[in-house]
Amino acid sequence: MACNSATCQSGCYRDDNDKLDDQFPLPAPAPATVPNHRQQTTNGVSPDGDSNDSILCVKCKLNQPMAVDGNIGLFCGDCFRSNLYGKFRFSVTSNALISPSDNVLVAFSGGPSSRVALQFVHEMQMKAQKNFDASRDRSLPVFGVGVAFIDESLIVPVPADEFDKAIEEMRFVVSNLAPPIKQFYVVPTESIYSSDSDDGRNRLKELLTGVSDITGREDLLEHLRMLALQKVALENGYTKILLGTCTSRIACHVLEATVKGQGYSLAADIQYVDARWEIPVILPLRDCLAQELHTLCSLDSLKTLEVLNGHNSGINALITSFVKLLQEENPSRESTIVRTAGKLTPFHFNRMPEVDDCNIRLASQRRQKKYNLKPNESLPPESFCRICNSPLKKADVKSCKMEDGKMSAEVFRDTCCRSCQFQILPKDISAVEHFHSLLPLQMVARAEYNNLGEDKDGLLREQIQDCLLSDTEDGT
Ligand SMILES: [Zn+2]
Ligand SMILES: [Zn+2]
Repeated sequence: MACNSATCQSGCYRDDNDKLDDQFPLPAPAPATVPNHRQQTTNGVSPDGDSNDSILCVKCKLNQPMAVDGNIGLFCGDCFRSNLYGKFRFSVTSNALISPSDNVLVAFSGGPSSRVALQFVHEMQMKAQKNFDASRDRSLPVFGVGVAFIDESLIVPVPADEFDKAIEEMRFVVSNLAPPIKQFYVVPTESIYSSDSDDGRNRLKELLTGVSDITGREDLLEHLRMLALQKVALENGYTKILLGTCTSRIACHVLEATVKGQGYSLAADIQYVDARWEIPVILPLRDCLAQELHTLCSLDSLKTLEVLNGHNSGINALITSFVKLLQEENPSRESTIVRTAGKLTPFHFNRMPEVDDCNIRLASQRRQKKYNLKPNESLPPESFCRICNSPLKKADVKSCKMEDGKMSAEVFRDTCCRSCQFQILPKDISAVEHFHSLLPLQMVARAEYNNLGEDKDGLLREQIQDCLLSDTEDGT
């Protein structure tokens, strides 16, 4: 499937520089360090008596491997880089994450994961552009890239001068990437309220103060972050949202979700594609470890900004430090956790929705067929939790009618998942109503559609009645 053509339907965006990647098409499960017996000692000679000069990069077998956390790595710098990029590219092509007609919005926090995600998607775009320029018929367009930073300074305060400086640096990072030009958006979380910004700020503050549990507050903020990303993507014509979520982060999420009782919906969150949102979300760094991303940032002097990343507390912080400890003991633990959770059957929305362009659709179907786990098609259509948007088990969904188009506090609570009921919603039912009134419209609208329950299909059918073929017309 090697090719050099911009018209290639495998979407591999390949060029000559990529040839090295081919030797490592599959993600390496362990980080790029050698086993302990090859550990470097202070005198520069490994314990088994070999001089370090005799240890060579396992890929090119020419250069000396670089040091990773005081150990000798498996790869030299160049091979490490191309191996990591290879994992990214493999997940993009084998899951049809990005098609030529896409406009991709990268969620950028300034941390190492999203910095690498931005770098890699930029490199992929540059190669597509090169192929486009070289091709005669120019039939496949080059996908667009934009960058969005979600400004949570209202909730996690940062000194104004530090914040402004960080934003300037991010703007500089984005504008310094070679053309095609990428737009940079700074999106305050409160923009999820369509009302004026003062009102939005007050409502957001009040909503979050209404959550007494520290873990619940953090989780709610994360759900709101996704709404803000969805909103900016929708308003600016983006077709995919790219997150820098890596193996290490997913490993933490697996344990967090288990502890919070989110086992049923867990499979939805840990795939390459999450298309339950209006704008599908993609996770091309799913097979890369946080440590590898850190290493690449220091190797290539990619600027990262930790100042804006709030620190976790509660359950999330406990699990982050627990997983970190596990990983220090055994460098393949994070991958093991993610592979184990990967055995769960994904949902139907964990694959890319069909697109209109016939060529792109054929290529994307071929790729998905080849690599993807087949989602369980027999699962019933889901209802989603109105707060976290996680799919609900059919048995847990109570079909309830709204009175005069308004929803009572009890009905609202019943259409949230158990985890949100416990961790986020106020215990007192009278406070739930007020909490509901503070939610942004996107959550409320989603809820009202879900709440139609069994009537949903009937309502849809009614709306498209004129376009449906009757039994005698359909040619069967
Ligand atoms: Zn090498
Ligand atoms: Zn929920």
